[in-house]
Amino acid sequence: MAAPPEFERVILDTRSVARVVPDGVFDAFAWSASSTLEWQRPIAWDATTQLSPDLPERLLFVFREDVDWLPRELAHYHAPKFGFTTEMILAPYAIDDATDLLYERRTSAASLMYLATDNLNALFWALHDWSHFHHHGPFEERAWTEFQCDLSALLWMHDNRERISLSTSQWSRLLEEVGVITRKRFQEEGKEAPSVTREAVFALATPRAFL
Ligand SMILES: [Zn+2]
Repeated sequence: MAAPPEFERVILDTRSVARVVPDGVFDAFAWSASSTLEWQRPIAWDATTQLSPDLPERLLFVFREDVDWLPRELAHYHAPKFGFTTEMILAPYAIDDATDLLYERRTSAASLMYLATDNLNALFWALHDWSHFHHHGPFEERAWTEFQCDLSALLWMHDNRERISLSTSQWSRLLEEVGVITRKRFQEEGKEAPSVTREAVFALATPRAFL
């Protein structure tokens, strides 16, 4: 069996963002102030994967300590080459549970978990999930909820582009890929989709909402 790859820890800046979706999409927007996400990655990681709307591979939110009130699974089972032994992760199906339970307990995600992943697709979805963990909503307006989280992820990817080694053209490609996913989500709800543009992303960086 190959030796576990070498890892490094990177602190990603995940600053607070403005709400850019209509009133009522969230019932407690920014109940938890987002600041950073600690990311453990192999030194050789894949910054080229395309975005996929399917469940991302090797996206691990690793618990810093024993957390018995969230669904858990063994880290090793999901990423055998990450060097984990007995560490537990948030079960990949339990993003919504975590969004609800973190809010109920008023517990910040960063105090409980760090991220381990090795590919760009999973990093994008991890940042998207990170957004969920800081804003609570009933998830009735699914397309709008996801839109806010997608734009947050895009802004944070841009903010951290040097740490991620993401080129401008790679980021622009992400923007287009998110646009495709967004249009599909809104179409499924029979609604007109908002545009996924640089301007839409950077509107999150201002301390006000446009709606
Ligand atoms: Zn989501």
